[in-house]
Amino acid sequence: MSDNFDLATHYPWLPSSLIIYYNNLPDDPKDFISEIFSSTISEISERTFEIFKAAFNNLENVPYYKLDKLNVYMYLLIKILLIVLNDKILTNRVANLYSKINYYDLLEENDYNIYHICNEELNLNVQYLPEGEVYGNKFYENNQQKLITNFKIFFIDYLNLVANLRDEYRKLINNPLSNGFVFLKKKTLIRLLQEYVRNKIKEVEIKEIIKKDELLNIKGFKELFEKISAAWKNRKDEIEYYEFDGTEDASFYPPCIQEIRSKAKEGQNLIHTERLLILWFLLALNIPIEEVVKFFSTMPDFDQEKTTYQVNFAKRKGYKVYLCETLKSLDLCRANKDKEKICTEGYYSKTQEKQRKIRSPLQYVHVRQHRNRRESKNKNDTNK
Ligand code: SF4
Repeated sequence: MSDNFDLATHYPWLPSSLIIYYNNLPDDPKDFISEIFSSTISEISERTFEIFKAAFNNLENVPYYKLDKLNVYMYLLIKILLIVLNDKILTNRVANLYSKINYYDLLEENDYNIYHICNEELNLNVQYLPEGEVYGNKFYENNQQKLITNFKIFFIDYLNLVANLRDEYRKLINNPLSNGFVFLKKKTLIRLLQEYVRNKIKEVEIKEIIKKDELLNIKGFKELFEKISAAWKNRKDEIEYYEFDGTEDASFYPPCIQEIRSKAKEGQNLIHTERLLILWFLLALNIPIEEVVKFFSTMPDFDQEKTTYQVNFAKRKGYKVYLCETLKSLDLCRANKDKEKICTEGYYSKTQEKQRKIRSPLQYVHVRQHRNRRESKNKNDTNK
């Protein structure tokens, strides 16, 4: 069992880390940066740059990552740098990498430490079941296996932690629930803590007090900022080269698809169903394989080889695009949020002489294309 001090050093996002390490530090970020750069300039710069470099390349770990006191200061330095750099794709990449490093470290922690982090540090209502508790059965072939776990979490805390994870299997209804508590495997609980860390890195609670000009007057900070900016620019040029430009018809895509496109543009991680939706949609429109692969190039976990394989596989299988009804149940439909007329009111079918509902994102594109052709024709006729 680690003591509080060890945990606070290993995980700088814990409230106790703030108390132990930051209490004696200046409140003003400028003074804090001056202080850490005056004593540890080369090491903190090198180690912080390694984290950014790994994030540029979508790696899942950083060579020579150390869980020491400097790591604690690096956490705040990284947050300040991300605010000053002000680049959503980069922020998402760093948050993804940092949360993954913490995920793998947390997996090594014993049950007590996980319980302590959840309850004492993060104020979550997590119960530890030392003997394990049966929460269901798994049936396979002629066998039955009891499902046992040592952890359960109060459903409100569960819902808060999964708020940004919209995969179907995370929904409360798809999880074992008893007396207000959701049963979770330790690994799943740690996966939820990973989300907490990801959000912490992206949190801009100190944005208001960050003065970029003042920080760039500090020599070590300026050098590090410029080094990261130059390296990121090179890498970003490559990513932007790969950036999906779709087709000229992209403006005809429905709101559910536009939402996914803008998330991807910002380098946000897409949930599984969003990835499937956009993949099947683009393939159904006969967008070339290499263009579809480019679409995914801004994802924090992009791997060109794997993505090319998966896109080719989906193409061969010829999967059908989700219907609007399904997308509504998956909470991916944006019709009401964006108040999109075709999506909310449907379209008038001349052949059937009645108003019809949109059945799928593909049909939305066809309606928009049809209207566009009709408008162009009318314009040409008037100009004759
Ligand atoms: S109605 Fe259909 S096409 Fe329109 S946003 Fe919803 S799911 Fe997408």
